Amino acid sequence: MSLNIGEIFGVKIKIHYTWLLIFFLITWSLAVGYVPLQFPGLSDATYWIIGIISAISLFVSVLAHELAHSYVALKQGIDVPSITLFFFGGVSQIAEEPKSPNHEAKMAAVGPLSSFAISALFFLLWFVAVTLDLGPFIVAPFSYIALINALLGGFNFLPAFPLDGGRVLRAVLWKWKNNLIVATKLSTKISEAIAYIMIGTGFFMIFAYSLFTGLWIVFIGWFLKSGSEASLKQTLISQALSDIKVKEIMNSQVVSISPTLTIANAVEQYFSNYTHTGFPVTNDGIVQGIITLGDLKKFMEDERQSTLVGDVMTPRKKMIVVSPDEPAVEAILKFSKNNIGRLPVLKEDKLVGIITRSDLMKAIRTRIQTEKILPLEVFENV
Ligand SMILES: [Zn+2]
Repeated sequence: MSLNIGEIFGVKIKIHYTWLLIFFLITWSLAVGYVPLQFPGLSDATYWIIGIISAISLFVSVLAHELAHSYVALKQGIDVPSITLFFFGGVSQIAEEPKSPNHEAKMAAVGPLSSFAISALFFLLWFVAVTLDLGPFIVAPFSYIALINALLGGFNFLPAFPLDGGRVLRAVLWKWKNNLIVATKLSTKISEAIAYIMIGTGFFMIFAYSLFTGLWIVFIGWFLKSGSEASLKQTLISQALSDIKVKEIMNSQVVSISPTLTIANAVEQYFSNYTHTGFPVTNDGIVQGIITLGDLKKFMEDERQSTLVGDVMTPRKKMIVVSPDEPAVEAILKFSKNNIGRLPVLKEDKLVGIITRSDLMKAIRTRIQTEKILPLEVFENV
């Protein structure tokens, strides 16, 4: 659902498709609303060009904010595979939970702080541009960039988890209580309270003041509420699975198929005898690919006699796999990102095991029951 546009500090930059719509909406609302109000008497074309320049500046501002987070994360040795810009903000896909309250506070605070710094800088530039009378092509975007970065910094500084301000708050609580889970639960509660206040205010505004502004506030409140729940779940899961590796919960008795078998034989000897819906394909223990029930269904009965497993399997290059030494949390990410149910575990192309969603769930449940760290219902639909 997103477009790759490049790479900075080794972090992939992606744009979510919704951004394109927002880009148009922002350009449009600037070109027919904000800019003509600020600079009356110019041509429509001028308004649209200023609108486009400003919308691009918003894009760059959001990107700068996210890059600030990523830069600090990378410096702390935390991997950041990608940044996705979407809707009214961006998301840095930060691979793990921060290691300490100080790390988290720094990583979170740097985003709004850079937005405020950009805002201050452009406010100064705007002031110079107005003083030198440089004209609307420069003055308008400068004033817009100053304004939008102040808003961006301000919104993200709300103490509502998982916004940056909420993360700073969580770090403070974490340091105080000396427990990440307790801190996360507390900040989720605070964040929910803020979300409900926003939703309530939004509904009030829909009736009393303006439908559009009201809806917008309800939407942001709802976004905060679901965002904080999701982040709580993510923290709880990664805590439950912390320091568990794939090899500790994988199943090392893997049934695999030879690539030279016909699919008729594969159905008869494997798919009908086991309940699995997919099998790794190996040759002397080296993985060649994976074959699933879905691959077989494409073939009619008579074609199955003459078609080989090796010809229809998903080849090794396209397989999604884990290594035995990877953290189990990594497997969860791969399951949900690719919407698959099982992952072959490979050590240098040699098949050493297989891990399924239910193996992971079992590991989480055992951990919860033995250590009583978390409520069970949190994991009902991982
Ligand atoms: Zn941020």
